[in-house]
Amino acid sequence: FGSAAAQIQRNPAYSELNSDDVSYFKSILGDNGVVQDEDRVAVANVDWMGKYKGASQLLLLPKSTIEVSKILSYCNTRRLAVVPQGGNTGLVGGSVPVYDEVIVSLAGMDKIISFDKVNGILTCEAGCVLENLSTFVENEGFIMPLDLGAKGSCHIGGNVSTNAGGLRFIRYGSLHGNVLGLEVVMADGTILDMLTTLRKDNTGYDLKHLFIGSEGSLGVVTKISLLTPAKLPSNNVAFLSCNDYTSCQKLLLAARRNLGEILSAFEFMDHHCIDLAMRHLEGVQNPLPASQTKFYVLIETTGSDESYNKTKLEAFLLRSMEDGLIADGVIAQDISQASNFWRIREGISEASVKVGAVYKYDLSIPVEKLYDIVEEMRCRLGDNAEVFGYGHLGDGNLHLNIVSSKYDDNTLAQIEPFVYEWTSAQRGSVSAEHGLGLMKAEKIHYSKSPEAVQLMASVKKLLDPNSILNPYKVLPRSVL
Ligand code: FAD
Repeated sequence: FGSAAAQIQRNPAYSELNSDDVSYFKSILGDNGVVQDEDRVAVANVDWMGKYKGASQLLLLPKSTIEVSKILSYCNTRRLAVVPQGGNTGLVGGSVPVYDEVIVSLAGMDKIISFDKVNGILTCEAGCVLENLSTFVENEGFIMPLDLGAKGSCHIGGNVSTNAGGLRFIRYGSLHGNVLGLEVVMADGTILDMLTTLRKDNTGYDLKHLFIGSEGSLGVVTKISLLTPAKLPSNNVAFLSCNDYTSCQKLLLAARRNLGEILSAFEFMDHHCIDLAMRHLEGVQNPLPASQTKFYVLIETTGSDESYNKTKLEAFLLRSMEDGLIADGVIAQDISQASNFWRIREGISEASVKVGAVYKYDLSIPVEKLYDIVEEMRCRLGDNAEVFGYGHLGDGNLHLNIVSSKYDDNTLAQIEPFVYEWTSAQRGSVSAEHGLGLMKAEKIHYSKSPEAVQLMASVKKLLDPNSILNPYKVLPRSVL
């Protein structure tokens, strides 16, 4: 389990659940909305990696904003701690209880409320699964502005609450730009209606941004409206190999310059990731089986004119090969080949958890330094663990994964605090897109100043004075 959990005491200010509480929840949610069945609650107590495990006895499944409001109002009065849960795919231990917090899952709130076909504005409930939303908007001629490997399970409410980045960030940017409005239930049950669908609205402070990326610590997101870009007809994916990391960087710069407006993804993986994917993902094929290089890059282009885009991509690849930036490469000839390329990149997380215990670090680092930490970590750990690096190179975001046979303190001591100190020295971020959760609540100071952390604590105290929402997460104990 999470090393952080072992160092935290249960906060005695929180009440313990009793039978009256359960009766109250049944009175508002009905029997089906109140889950005490041990097996079902056990699933909700454990995170996607099997690394963090809580001991909650209660899973609540509200079906409406009013029900969420009644739950929180009651929990706030009774001082029952709460964990909001979406698809439970988070990678920092934020979505599961640490002790006996009540789990409030948004899974029952999965309705699409409206879709504005002229402007591409989607309004939906927080529990909609990202992939279902993708399918829905694609049928209308649009795409979701974000895509990630967990799309089959993660909820849009979870995406907003973590400010998920993902594979389309390079083209469509952050959810801070794409989310137009939110409905949020605050800790005391107050419903905050900010569910606008306007592109422009400079009336006062834009409060929705407080909830985007606050990981369920300031409120429960119940509804979302967001801008979806038009679906463009031409899409090409190339899988390339590069001899060294410098070539990957140069290729990124060249792609930005020469592919310009059609560049829609630039992902990179080292050869350890490819080996891992080939060993542990079913049905995937190595697109470049003869390649002996250390680095691989997946480039996607998306645009409105098929022949223009294809010609542009081919010319770019040819020139990059002549310049020695690309060692070998292949362009997907059909959808199934493109899916295979993407499956390799998106399946690395899944493959890694099949090997053993994974220490995951999600770092923002200036691109020229980004791979140095992978090599340094490999030297530090020697044969004790497998170290591999991949990520959203176009966004300066490295996923540093260290896989060992089990979680143990010795391995952890070799990794931390070194990884955080190193990142901080580069003025990087110790969480590029996964958030802080339980794993990194005490690490925020590596990326944020004491004054900024203090202000965050003041905001938390203002919005959640009894600190019932997602305790032990996001902010360090010393400031709360
Ligand atoms: P959960 O895991 O359930 O919750 C995450 C956090 O949000 C928790 O703190 C929880 O309390 C809070 N929360 C959830 N729903 C709500 C709500 N409605 N209101 C308030 N708080 C809420 N992340 C990326 O950013 N980019 C990636 O490319 C990416 N790829 C991934 C690939 C895989 C295979 C996996 C397993 C994960 C990946 N992730 C990625 C991490 C994860 O999928 C994202 O953080 C995702 O946004 C979490 O959504 P979720 O619905 O599963 O939320």
